[in-house]
Amino acid sequence: EATVERIAAGEVVERPSSVVKELVENSLDADATRVEVTVERGGKDGVTVADDGIGMTETEVRRAVEEHTTSKIRDIDDLESGVGTLGFRGEALHAVGAVSRLTITTRPRSDRDVDSRRGTELTVEGGEVTSVEPAGCPEGTTIEVDDLFFNVPARRKYLKQDGTEFAHVNTVVTSYALANPDIAVSLTHDGRETFATTGQNDRREAVMSVYGREVAESMVEVSAGGEGGGESGDDGDAALPDGPLGGVSGLVSHPETTRSTREYLSTYVNGRYVTAGAVRDAVIEAYGHQLAPDRYPFAVLFLDVPAGDVDVNVHPRKLEVRFADEEGVREQIEAAVESALLEDGL
Ligand code: ADP
Ligand code: MG
Repeated sequence: EATVERIAAGEVVERPSSVVKELVENSLDADATRVEVTVERGGKDGVTVADDGIGMTETEVRRAVEEHTTSKIRDIDDLESGVGTLGFRGEALHAVGAVSRLTITTRPRSDRDVDSRRGTELTVEGGEVTSVEPAGCPEGTTIEVDDLFFNVPARRKYLKQDGTEFAHVNTVVTSYALANPDIAVSLTHDGRETFATTGQNDRREAVMSVYGREVAESMVEVSAGGEGGGESGDDGDAALPDGPLGGVSGLVSHPETTRSTREYLSTYVNGRYVTAGAVRDAVIEAYGHQLAPDRYPFAVLFLDVPAGDVDVNVHPRKLEVRFADEEGVREQIEAAVESALLEDGL
């Protein structure tokens, strides 16, 4: 039983960045306006996510670490037959607790209709709740995950060097920070702050916090298609050729300030962070010969895709998506980015 549970947990939690992803998503779900992520040694020695969200009562936090959907994972055969495609609603916290030492400190926000005077600290070690105590703490929730995979040596061994694990964590936190400019998101690694956004709901400001001032100030705004779904011309939106996308918006780097030897491409489909080969190719194509050799653009692009035109039947933790009409998407993105660069006189 315990073994199956640990294997199941390993399906949800692959590495420190998967812990970070689940915890940050929970903070956003909890209506937080501030999310602070702190990791030690790439997250291998510790991941802490603190938020000012709605918090939990003692009853709620006890329930939060229970297993919700046991029926989905009955044995190893289930796992191998691709249970992952079923999703893991209600599984994340339980799964993290099964393979780490987990401490949740939480207090309900005072605007909730529950007793918000006292907080609770709950600890889990390798899947066992080891203590539940009253705690003095601010409103909101802080979740600390120490010694990830301490009880699954095979998994622990598979973790990469600190720098590599941190790069994954950075990608995850950056993607949420850029998609949620109205929330103050910060990331600290081994005591040094990597970035912090202000939460002032300004996309360019969020980009500046993450990528630096020079890049952000020179970025070019992309806005094509828009809410009207193909009706171009209004609110200054550029025309979008017919195709699967209803709209393309965001920011792309100015060719002249694009000196990066690595691409920083954040793509969101209907608000969800994804990677998509078609999008990457189209953005690079749109720059044509304007980029120096071996230089790659920065881009933060939000795509509106009607349900049915994106393959949603992918593993819940796999980020790569495919579109039913890849060629159509590619053409639309290339057109949207090209017209943004043109409008900027490039
Ligand atoms: P899910 O998010 O799919 O419901 P999780 O295992 O990630 O499952 O979380 C279980 C529950 O714990 C959530 O539904 C929520 O009620 C509670 N919870 C988790 N994190 C937080 C948080 N940061 N603030 C408030 N409640 C939380
Ligand atoms: Mg969750």
